[in-house]
Amino acid sequence: MIPDGIEEKHLKLAIQEIIKDGIPVSRKSVHYDYLHGNKRYPPKYVISLAAKYAFGNELSSNDFNAVRARDYLRSRGHTVIDRRDGALDVIVSDDDESSFAEGKEKYRLHRSKERDSSITKKAKAARLKDTGTLSCDICDFDFYNKYGKLGLGFIEAHHKVPVSELDGNTKTKISDLALVCSNCHRMLHRQKSTMHISELKKIVESYATSV
Ligand SMILES: [Zn+2]
Ligand SMILES: [Zn+2]
Repeated sequence: MIPDGIEEKHLKLAIQEIIKDGIPVSRKSVHYDYLHGNKRYPPKYVISLAAKYAFGNELSSNDFNAVRARDYLRSRGHTVIDRRDGALDVIVSDDDESSFAEGKEKYRLHRSKERDSSITKKAKAARLKDTGTLSCDICDFDFYNKYGKLGLGFIEAHHKVPVSELDGNTKTKISDLALVCSNCHRMLHRQKSTMHISELKKIVESYATSV
């Protein structure tokens, strides 16, 4: 049984302890990984330790099983992956155009439209004129702020029209392009179908407030 009363702050304290002291060999997880801040933790051990912060006593490994721990964390909105279903392969996989569901050709077309230097230049010039900066539409990153002169004038263009609707003939308009940093651009294309920029923005914002 996992007793009621373990709160987010207790889970966070448990993770801090693990970061500091490590995971005893006997508490490493076999099937499940609790993902937190880009790292993986054994769900059962995290909950056992969190109980210590909540009630004063660490739970023993026999008090509940791994499936309970998984469900407990998932029901509270945390990500727990099962190594057996290949989820980890997805996480560590290299991203390339071959994983793009809409097809290699469509992806290449999308990229070529983004690289069309004349329209991209116009979009950047228009943005500079309007706002005086070239910061990422999603996370606000500004290459000039970070890299000084080297980053001056650098930002990537992302074509917002869904890849499936693109063909070789349609002309790109300035309004079709979002200006994004390289990280956000990769994330937009990381899933099987291209993510909408508002969707990624939401993720960035919610993550920023949760850590
Ligand atoms: Zn960004
Ligand atoms: Zn793109």
